[in-house]
Amino acid sequence: MGKTAEEIIEKCRLQLQKVKAEQEENLQNSQEKEISIQTVTSNKCPLGKCDGNGLIYVPEFDAYKVCECMKLDVQKKMLSFACIPEEFREFKVNEFDVSIYSSEENRIIAQAAKGAAVGLVKNFEKINDIGRGLYFYSAMTGSGKTRLMASLGNAIVKTKNVNVRFITASNLFDKIKGTFNGEDDEYGKMMDEIKNIDVLLLDDIGAEMPTDWTSSIFCSILNERLTQKKMTIFTSNYSINKLPYDNRIISRINKMAVPIPFPEESIRQVIAERENQDFIKMLMEG
Ligand SMILES: [Zn+2]
Repeated sequence: MGKTAEEIIEKCRLQLQKVKAEQEENLQNSQEKEISIQTVTSNKCPLGKCDGNGLIYVPEFDAYKVCECMKLDVQKKMLSFACIPEEFREFKVNEFDVSIYSSEENRIIAQAAKGAAVGLVKNFEKINDIGRGLYFYSAMTGSGKTRLMASLGNAIVKTKNVNVRFITASNLFDKIKGTFNGEDDEYGKMMDEIKNIDVLLLDDIGAEMPTDWTSSIFCSILNERLTQKKMTIFTSNYSINKLPYDNRIISRINKMAVPIPFPEESIRQVIAERENQDFIKMLMEG
């Protein structure tokens, strides 16, 4: 039996609804949305909707509504606060390209890692309540761990109402040392910040041997985050149990995050080559 006209119309209506919902979700598209509201525009508003003060006059109600550029502004601040390295800022979890790995086996491992990241974003509220994170690891550097973790951070900053902070482990140890020699206040502030960040992205742990002293401070940071149920996401070249840290640290990390293996393959070269090809294409088009 063929479809009735009603069924086809209903299908179109649903599709339109879906497209509309997606459009609304995507702040980047907001420029293309029709503006039915009368407004004074200037180039101060990045969306060209308000006069730069973040408010739009709605004549029907003789009232003001908040311009979407204010949301962008908050998002921008949150993004810069998150300290995700510039090179990773535009990366999205669902654009993580699994086909880049050379073998079927590696593509399956990478797909599972990507699936874990997508699942974490989808069920973020529930998982964030438990406070459990992910631990991406492979002995091989350049396998895409940091890339996926940063993409995950971008997604969380942009869609969830939480603080995110990216820091490499060696940088964290340096900071601990640096602030401790300074004023007490500075050290306390730094410790509070790292302990209380909603979602901490800790890159490349195990790359540097901490001293007994940094190690005990690192342990107290992890312990505080564990008991406060704050989510931490890690990347490492070691599996958790092989980390060159003492057992107190290892046992805490085991409780804080689920280990997710990455393919033992570097994709840096492939990515660089692809980027070169794209650039050459751009030159040819000119
Ligand atoms: Zn505006």
